[in-house]
Amino acid sequence: MSTRLTDPFGRSVEYIRLSVTDRCDLRCFYCLPGDYRDFSEPEEWLSFEEIERLIGAFVASGVRRVRITGGEPLVRKNLPLLAGNLARIPGLLDLSLSTNAVSLGRQAEKLKSAGISRINVSLDTLRADRFKDITRGNLNKVIDGLMAAKRAGFSPIKINMVIMKGINDDEVEDMIEFCIEHDFTLRFIETMPMGETGRNAASYFLSLQDIKNRLAERYELIPGVMPGGGPARYVQVAGSQLRIGFITPISQHFCETCNRVRLSVDGTLYLCLGQEHKFEFRPLLRDGISDAELLDAVQYAITLKPERHEFNDKPQQVVRFMAKTGG
Ligand code: SAM
Repeated sequence: MSTRLTDPFGRSVEYIRLSVTDRCDLRCFYCLPGDYRDFSEPEEWLSFEEIERLIGAFVASGVRRVRITGGEPLVRKNLPLLAGNLARIPGLLDLSLSTNAVSLGRQAEKLKSAGISRINVSLDTLRADRFKDITRGNLNKVIDGLMAAKRAGFSPIKINMVIMKGINDDEVEDMIEFCIEHDFTLRFIETMPMGETGRNAASYFLSLQDIKNRLAERYELIPGVMPGGGPARYVQVAGSQLRIGFITPISQHFCETCNRVRLSVDGTLYLCLGQEHKFEFRPLLRDGISDAELLDAVQYAITLKPERHEFNDKPQQVVRFMAKTGG
């Protein structure tokens, strides 16, 4: 298929992050406030049929890859059913999932059979007490989930670790050894000022350039590549299969190659993680829009994509939490 979605800055948009819920079974302190209640209501959630129709229109317009995310996507009921239906959309080449893995132990097999090929798991620490402090959750469940994902045959499995100064930056080397042992890919992520929780990030922000320099003293790092088309810049640890990705939205932004948009559970398309530019699809879907009009709406929405985020210049700007946009 040769269809392409191109934004006003000439970037091809071929990737959607699809949030299937804004709820989460963890409370990472840098993401959602502990007492947060302001979730969207079920009647505002796009139904599976609405999601499939809308994603179908995006794929018909040029999107090739979809990542299911949240909130925590595994708390949405019957997710494997939705995944199976999305995987069958003609022209969709890659269906992946981002999860905290808390309930992956129970769902890994079904998700794999449904057609999800790749998963990313968020894991900021390997210490149970620290995991509880950061997320309020139980590390054992996550490790069980990861092992179930391995058994189910997901490949690659990527671990996403948000690096925070004085909180988990002393665990970088342990996480590297863990990933070498289990054949996982590891990605480090800089904290972003999203919502009132993320805005405190300045106090524990750590540039990944510092981590890279630190690792270069201990390991021989050679340039590495990973399929996926995302923003991570990879190195490989010589003498192992381990690839380490650095995702640096703050210290070295990558907006000029941004190829993605984000659909939240209520049908709002966010055109940039760090800006409020958006387009509402739910009213159109519920007012009986025709297929041709929906394709036009998709084209129009992409014209709203801004050039870049302004996390550094205007850190107060993004009021929504990461859990709303899906990371
Ligand atoms: N629950 C799923 C998961 O854990 O992967 C998907 C959604 S979660 C919001 C996506 C990612 O965003 C997680 O890796 C989380 O650590 C990260 N995240 C949340 N708030 C962040 C922030 N302020 N800065 C950087 N990353 C953040």
